[in-house]
Amino acid sequence: MFAVLGDPVAHSLSPQLQNAAFTDSGIDAVYVALHCDADRLPGLMRGITAARGGGNVTLPHKALARRTIERATEAVERTGACNTFWCDGGALWGDNTDVVGVRRSVASLLEQDAKDARVLLLGAGGAARAAMYAFISDRAGEVVVLNRSAHRARDLIARFEPAPTRLRLAPSIGSLANESFDLVVNATSLGLRPDDPLPLPLDAPLHVAAALDLVYTPDGTAWCRAHSSRGTPAADGIEMLLYQGAAAFERWTGVDAPLAAMRDALPPR
Ligand code: NAP
Repeated sequence: MFAVLGDPVAHSLSPQLQNAAFTDSGIDAVYVALHCDADRLPGLMRGITAARGGGNVTLPHKALARRTIERATEAVERTGACNTFWCDGGALWGDNTDVVGVRRSVASLLEQDAKDARVLLLGAGGAARAAMYAFISDRAGEVVVLNRSAHRARDLIARFEPAPTRLRLAPSIGSLANESFDLVVNATSLGLRPDDPLPLPLDAPLHVAAALDLVYTPDGTAWCRAHSSRGTPAADGIEMLLYQGAAAFERWTGVDAPLAAMRDALPPR
């Protein structure tokens, strides 16, 4: 048995994604969404892995999951968050497959990895940490961080310095006037609700060649649609969901993830 543990969790698309993968791969397993509070998280992670299963952890428990696991991948160490757990050699292991989710969705959008790219990263929370580590791993040229709370942007940069990628804080949108970016990434939570403002206004005085939204809704996000309608290549967080799920599936099973079957299980794009 495999499970996604979170609060709230009922909206999660992971059960349909992972059950499609198990069915397509002929693996006799089931994946469910389990609502759980912080007190029950460690016990559930240990119980599920004791029964030879594994799972995912989502908001708001990724930092607690990191403290619960016994062995951590480098992605967990660098981001301080764990979204995937399993048992290996008697130990409770954890990975943060959001990192590979960002790397692979960037590669799919840009048709190449982010090496040398200039990236504008909106947000400084957990998703932004995963994105930051993804860009550093890909040897991006520069990541500029813009966040509502400047002190959190500063903390994000400090967490990853020194890095082979140049990291810079943008104090305001205006400070970016006339700059050009190969990619802008929305790692804020703006876009989940229909009345949310866009994470970066379309008339901001800067040029972006492509836009990746980590947020997803069933019909796609308004920000992503607005970029597409202007002819700017754009993708929403469904791509990241797909690739983080594929990487988790491979951790649990050792089998290549059936990407086509998994994509078919998600809302069409
Ligand atoms: P988080 O840690 O709570 O961070 C939220 C970020 O959004 C912070 O930077 C926050 O700014 C900013 N923000 C919130 N409300 C805002 C507002 N009204 N105006 C401007 N900025 C605002 O959340 P997270 O874990 O990073 O997740 C962010 C989003 O990423 C989630 O909503 C989720 O949709 C998405 N996500 C997607 C995937 C996927 O697989 N596609 C995986 C993980 C996350 P402050 O620092 O100023 O508060």
